[in-house]
Amino acid sequence: DDMLLYRGFKKMEHTFIAIKPDGVQRGLEFKLVGIKVVVPSKDFVQKHYHDLKERPFFNGSCDFLSSGPVIAMVWEGEGVIRYGRKLIGATDPQKSEPGTIRGDLAVVVGRNIIHGSDGPVTAKDEINLWFKPQKLVSYTNNAEKWIYGDN
Ligand code: UDP
Ligand code: MG
Repeated sequence: DDMLLYRGFKKMEHTFIAIKPDGVQRGLEFKLVGIKVVVPSKDFVQKHYHDLKERPFFNGSCDFLSSGPVIAMVWEGEGVIRYGRKLIGATDPQKSEPGTIRGDLAVVVGRNIIHGSDGPVTAKDEINLWFKPQKLVSYTNNAEKWIYGDN
């Protein structure tokens, strides 16, 4: 119930922020189709990072990713996987360009702030792992014909 949700945070102020339909429709070139806040379990993040299970940092990365709230999102658009990775920057923030999220906001590889799928196969797997299909929305943005053309 509500009290459970706010347990320990009763004196904290909360606000509700929502992008209204006009803001969503005016959007940018990419479209947000799913978002949630979760504290994933260790078991869950081991699935998320299953490709890395032989690497020495696997256990530490899993401990860290399951240590607190994660904001999980699905974005949609042509080239969004590659663009997302570009915006995020290199795995090691020391090697990330200025202007990238990791380059500007993180310092060490084990605390690099943000994850992004590295290709179409991992994107599909990760979206399926993190989101039930019915929790993703399908909608047409009015600007799409201007962004993509209509042929
Ligand atoms: N990681 C680490 N040490 C390394 C490489 C990776 O701690 O030497 C962590 C880092 O947080 C990274 C995550 O493991 O984001 C997943 O590694 P991956 O190679 O998939 O990098 P990413 O796809 O996140 O850029
Ligand atoms: Mg990766």
